[in-house]
Amino acid sequence: MTTIPSASSDAFSRPAARFTAGGLDIRASALGQCRRALWYTATEQPVTNPPEPESLTLLEAGNALEPVVVRAMRRAGWRVSPSDRDEPVSVTVEAAPGLTVTGHPDATGCPPPAGGAAAAVEQFLFGDNAQPDETEDLVIEVKTRGPEAFKRWRTLGAERSHPESVAQAACYSLGLYGECRDVVIATLDTGSRLWDHEVIPAERAERAWRNASGRLEALAEHHALHGPDPQALPERDFTAADWQCQRCPYLNLCQPGGAGEAEDGAEPAKPVSDEQARAALHEYEQAQGRIKSLEADKRGALKTLQHWLQRKGESKARLEGSAKTRTVGMVQSRRYSVDHQRLNALLAPEQRAEIVTEQVSEYLRVS
Ligand code: SF4
Repeated sequence: MTTIPSASSDAFSRPAARFTAGGLDIRASALGQCRRALWYTATEQPVTNPPEPESLTLLEAGNALEPVVVRAMRRAGWRVSPSDRDEPVSVTVEAAPGLTVTGHPDATGCPPPAGGAAAAVEQFLFGDNAQPDETEDLVIEVKTRGPEAFKRWRTLGAERSHPESVAQAACYSLGLYGECRDVVIATLDTGSRLWDHEVIPAERAERAWRNASGRLEALAEHHALHGPDPQALPERDFTAADWQCQRCPYLNLCQPGGAGEAEDGAEPAKPVSDEQARAALHEYEQAQGRIKSLEADKRGALKTLQHWLQRKGESKARLEGSAKTRTVGMVQSRRYSVDHQRLNALLAPEQRAEIVTEQVSEYLRVS
């Protein structure tokens, strides 16, 4: 594997894929993208579904918050060297014959010194010269996520929730150090502004890199076979119902009329006019109002019963209700929590998948 370090000011605006003299170059942050979408980008096809302004704002807000994460890490005792935003160091890694991956690491550094909080504070106050540090630097990939994605990452671990980010960090490690070291994923919850981190052991990071680059190898082979032919399209990686297609800038080019179509075999939705939808919304609002006032009545009645029980000095008592005699009693509820950070560090993603499972349910929210 060869690495080609270089400095570049256009690193942030590079296309996700482009043809080079040696073959195909993929942007490291696009490692998990659909291969057909990468092909459209490399062959410079017109964008048919540009991102909404809101999505761009979200993306820019996420980028702007990255230095905030770095400062928070420093305050927590990490030694962190962020990339120079005006002139980020770009690394290129040869992933396979005719395939390179290029990107710019967010930061490098290492976790707080073993001396604990005092050493961390000293390092924060006096900087990197406070004490000699022999610890080897690691790649730190900084991410910002909404509350749901943050929770998912913390619970499942980055290799399951965002494998492409682990592959990206592994790529930077190969590019910067010539070897795949442990990598750090540091993530900020944009809702609560909490941040956390996960260290992925070197061998698991390398596996994520091999999986991601192996997938793209097929695209490099496609290129070797067809050349940069915009008509020779690789297979689709997703279907119109997947979020990847819903957010794809080439959706209408790739699947004309595919957006919003019912999935094969799915029952077509009953036609509902705007009028009917508005009436349903008003009905929903009225029901919500009634539920809120009933909930307040229920809470008030329960409070009274609790005071009654306390005055009696009992934890449980029988009381005549309108239809039957009921038991009024205090119950204890217990909650158990799992330290997902420690669990993720101890177990490989396959083992975790047997222990931490994910169920997805769908519901309609009116906000
Ligand atoms: S619409 Fe879906 S399948 Fe087509 S290029 Fe985009 S992500 Fe890939």
